Amino acid sequence: MTSTNPQLSVVVPVHNEADVIPTLLNRLVLVFRKLEMTTELLFVDDGSRDNSVALLLQARRRYPDIRVLQLSRNFGKEAAVTAGLTHAKGDAVILMDADLQDPPELIPDMVAQWRKGTDVVLMKRRSRAGESWLKRATASLFYRLINRISDAPIPVDTGDFRLMSRRTVDALNQLPERNRYLKGMFAWVGMPTVTLEFDRDPRLAGKTKWNYLKLVHLAMEGITSFSTRPLRIALVLGLLAAGAGGLFGTWEVLKALVLGISTPGYASMIAVVTFLSGVQLLCVGLLGEYVGRIYMETKQRPVFILAEDSDDRIRDYQPTLRVAGESNGQ
Ligand code: UDP
Ligand code: MG
Repeated sequence: MTSTNPQLSVVVPVHNEADVIPTLLNRLVLVFRKLEMTTELLFVDDGSRDNSVALLLQARRRYPDIRVLQLSRNFGKEAAVTAGLTHAKGDAVILMDADLQDPPELIPDMVAQWRKGTDVVLMKRRSRAGESWLKRATASLFYRLINRISDAPIPVDTGDFRLMSRRTVDALNQLPERNRYLKGMFAWVGMPTVTLEFDRDPRLAGKTKWNYLKLVHLAMEGITSFSTRPLRIALVLGLLAAGAGGLFGTWEVLKALVLGISTPGYASMIAVVTFLSGVQLLCVGLLGEYVGRIYMETKQRPVFILAEDSDDRIRDYQPTLRVAGESNGQ
């Protein structure tokens, strides 16, 4: 074990990726051999239930640069990445997915850009092979929406695949929020950035952990954690609706008083009532989103709980120990 910090850390969140880990390790090791840098390969196991951890710990015997952090349960990718970033020791830190959608062969190019003096090397997808048009369409819609609304614009077609300098990672680690919307946090931190384009491969094996519910959740997170502008939109919407309602009411009263016409007006009444209650519900729901987030933040809970660290040599490690019937909380 080295006492000085490695020059490069590669952080990989892992959730049930046993199918891809052998290939991932082979490709990473090939890349590292050519790099001539001291490296640290930091895997964060996000509550995997297959033998991902066993595979990683086994590989550690051959490649001592591997370090495995195990979270106490499945906390979600954002928490796993947070755990990795807080523990990574490298002068530069690369973040990549385990499923080989982010090709490790690009690491030397990223390092080269960093050596030229940039803080962030952002990997932008030129293509999204193996992703349905529906996913692509919703992703593009989401980016457009969030950049309209957010204060820190998020670059289109970039994921978490990136290199960050030590000071960027330190800055990121200072952000104390519990609701971690990483894409927005990266954008918020800023720093001099170089963008490289790459072709995103399809997932090598296993299946994606994403579903539309999670995407909607993430989108909500993205919008509400980085802007209070939706609240202002709600306010404006409410003002407009109230103004229109006031005008309409005055008009009806005048009609009755001056012209003496009092129409039954059932249809218009229903229209106004349903519209206004819709606007109200929308605004209350929006407020609720923010209040909920405030509630979660005030609890001050840690973002993740570390169960095991392969660098802790104090205990004898038992990789397959799992409590039966534990729930996969999320
Ligand atoms: N991941 C994780 N925790 C989760 C879900 C996913 O750590 O709860 C990891 C997963 O192992 C992978 C990365 O996050 O390394 C991206 O996940 P996935 O490929 O399923 O997402 P997609 O690429 O389809 O957006
Ligand atoms: Mg993937």
